[in-house]
Amino acid sequence: MRIDVLTLFPEMFEGVFGSSILGKARDKGLVSLSTLNFRDFSTNKHNTVDDTPYGGGGGMVLKPEPIFGAVEHLLGQAGNGEPEPSSAKPPRIVLMCPQGEPLTQRKAQELSGESHLIFVCGHYEGYDERIREHLVTDELSIGDYVLTGGELPAMVVIDTVVRLLPGVLGNEQSAVTDSFSDGLLEYPHYTRPPEFRGWKVPDVLLSGHHAEIDKWRRHQSLERTHSRRPELLHVVELTEKERKWLEERRRTENGSD
Ligand code: SAM
Repeated sequence: MRIDVLTLFPEMFEGVFGSSILGKARDKGLVSLSTLNFRDFSTNKHNTVDDTPYGGGGGMVLKPEPIFGAVEHLLGQAGNGEPEPSSAKPPRIVLMCPQGEPLTQRKAQELSGESHLIFVCGHYEGYDERIREHLVTDELSIGDYVLTGGELPAMVVIDTVVRLLPGVLGNEQSAVTDSFSDGLLEYPHYTRPPEFRGWKVPDVLLSGHHAEIDKWRRHQSLERTHSRRPELLHVVELTEKERKWLEERRRTENGSD
């Protein structure tokens, strides 16, 4: 996978792209991670990328020319600096903005199937609307709150996507059982020692009975999802037995209100 980030602050990505799982994925050649400063594509002599909004009001608006120019520059190049082959699938161009589609694990899975992603990080009051209407393919938000820029949100999305790429995580299983992968929150984990300050690890986990351990974990996942994020259970696939258990739980809880 190739990932390019358009930003006014490329230095913010150095630590994140070079460390931990992302750094290793890059070193192994599983992903190429690059930044491009769209100020380099400013079309005026003062190198400005923003201007005051038509109609008045506070804040500055990112101009269309530098962002269109930077994306078009990338579209003309493959990751190795050669022209992109005409057969290549067009990249997804993702605008980071609080008004976008909320980021979910499902969205990360969808993006992890792409071969080229371009992230556009905003700043100031916002973007000229023509960027949204005529350039990008996706708009993504990392939550219902407002940050000063799109850099941290883009890092969040890139991290969730890259860890899903084949070969990136040491233990492939850990992405499969992660919270939200099957719609549920993950079950609790324990490690050595079997007893710490009088608090014991559940017996079943020490039993060596894999079928019983799987059953316990599934039950814990359901229990945890029901108590912390009950809305997730509306869309998850449950067995008949699990559905009945859930109905019973709801009935008991409503009865005890
Ligand atoms: N005025 C804009 C609004 O009300 O929608 C907010 C602009 S914000 C101060 C500046 C930039 O930060 C945005 O253009 C976007 O790139 C980024 N940003 C802020 N919050 C975000 C969020 N929750 N998710 C994704 N990007 C965000």
